[in-house]
Amino acid sequence: MGSPLNHKARKRFGQNFLHDPNVIEHIISSIAAKSDQHLVEIGPGKGALTEHLITHAGKLDVIELDRDLVPILEDQFSGHEHFSIHNIDALKFDFSSLLENSSEKLRLVGNLPYNISTPLIFHLLENASIIEDMHFMLQKEVVERMTAAPGSKTYGRLSILVQYLCRAELLFIVPPGAFDPAPKVESAIVQLTPKNQLASSNDMKVQLNGTPADLAFIAREAFSQRRKTLRNNLKKILRNEQITQCGIDSGRRAETLSIDEFVALTNQYVLNLENSNLTE
Ligand code: SAM
Repeated sequence: MGSPLNHKARKRFGQNFLHDPNVIEHIISSIAAKSDQHLVEIGPGKGALTEHLITHAGKLDVIELDRDLVPILEDQFSGHEHFSIHNIDALKFDFSSLLENSSEKLRLVGNLPYNISTPLIFHLLENASIIEDMHFMLQKEVVERMTAAPGSKTYGRLSILVQYLCRAELLFIVPPGAFDPAPKVESAIVQLTPKNQLASSNDMKVQLNGTPADLAFIAREAFSQRRKTLRNNLKKILRNEQITQCGIDSGRRAETLSIDEFVALTNQYVLNLENSNLTE
């Protein structure tokens, strides 16, 4: 038998367990799971969210790395028919393996382990085509970076990738006291909706010719030295006149560029790669 009382929170697994019933209720009502939906919870811990999700969702898969938590989850939930536990690292998990048919989409939720939040978000974004939406608790600072607009101090590679693929919205802020143990920082719930799920996604005017990984590469290079100009940061990748041909002044800084402008620079970079392959 696994008892939640015997389990000691582990820092290396980013364990901060939710215990505030009002916060839990707010998260559950924001998700509003329905009986015909397939939900996936990342990092269920001792089941604070799971116990509510399981009563609403049609199917619930949970992915938990800490094997000591598995018996605790089994004791509570294994009697439910459409419930499965996967004792595995979410970073290595193949989310498409959960799909029961080609038209099914997954709804992802979780109070995520903060120590792996950015790589996990990148891993999940690779699966955007099979995801209906995501509701995650993250450090407030990470949610602010995801939702930042051009010109703001927190706008960077994460904002560009997330907002290229998803509509991102900060739903509400959660104070440290809602968790046990309490983290040092404030947290926030973010809602991410992949753009292919949105009926009217006309906010993107420029089509990406490369992959999201190409876009991430250009964003990383453009922001490599935040105070420097694009001309400087991109000099090994794009010629000055190629930046200008994209309609962008090469004396600008990366933080002033819209997502469309990043897409235009990426397209130029992909074109250069194709041309260099032709001449090799
Ligand atoms: N959902 C619970 C709650 O709100 O009380 C626990 C949240 S706690 C912040 C994060 C959970 O993610 C822990 O249960 C931890 O063991 C689990 N976890 C950490 N790293 C993980 C990984 N790589 N893959 C899957 N789960 C992980």
